[in-house]
Amino acid sequence: LKREVERTRRLASVGKLAAGVAHEIRNPLSSIKGFATYFSERYKDNPNDLNIAQIMIKEVDRLNRVVGQLLEFARPVSLTPKRVPLGTFVDSCVKLVSMRAREKGITIATAFEEAPESVFLDPDKISQVLLNLFLNAIEATEQGGTINVLVTRPLGSANLVISVTDTGCGISEENRAHIFDPYFTTKSSGTGLGLAISHNIVESHGGEIRIKSIEGEGTAITLVIPTKAEQTDHDKKLLDSGC
Ligand code: ADP
Ligand code: MG
Repeated sequence: LKREVERTRRLASVGKLAAGVAHEIRNPLSSIKGFATYFSERYKDNPNDLNIAQIMIKEVDRLNRVVGQLLEFARPVSLTPKRVPLGTFVDSCVKLVSMRAREKGITIATAFEEAPESVFLDPDKISQVLLNLFLNAIEATEQGGTINVLVTRPLGSANLVISVTDTGCGISEENRAHIFDPYFTTKSSGTGLGLAISHNIVESHGGEIRIKSIEGEGTAITLVIPTKAEQTDHDKKLLDSGC
């Protein structure tokens, strides 16, 4: 519990700072990108200079992504839950990363077992979570590997369970304690915000994220989300109060 309280406090202060900085960075970034694009047009016939201009554009895009994630992370999660057809929903999330997976020769296999037809959740937010899990799995997995997505509701349970299993590099014991910390990343161009954002989103759905990982063998990340038949009075109150 102490750990959790500490985490929440750290998140709040980091969040405020991040939101302020991110806003200030966005405008200059868009003019830099404009000029870099101008140079890439101008140096069309000079491969060397063209390459430099293209690197500038790529790096600006990366900064924009980082800033976008920062803002996303800093914003308090406000849910707009809806009734969502589960099959179509999960498939559309997989589609978002299918290009990236195909480029790396990775197959994403989806299975539904005893899964409910539809669930009540915020599709935009949960698709962000799934996207983060899929991208992490793709990044951890070797060329030609498979990622398994299992959607299920354990017998008698009121929870929707979605697990994403990869046969990638795994997570060391030491790192496991930090993967939900904002800015914790082991990647040269990672933001370390994907799982921190995902944690906030799942928590605000009243759910949790579980991890099983063996270094060198792979990782299974499981979302456990309470499935409600409909919006409860409690949800309505939360929604009305803007939480
Ligand atoms: P980022 O992807 O930008 O590094 P995340 O918050 O998404 O940030 O993940 C934090 C860290 O957790 C990653 O840098 C990586 O070390 C570890 N991680 C997350 N998912 C996996 C996975 N499926 N396999 C191996 N390591 C993972
Ligand atoms: Mg990530």
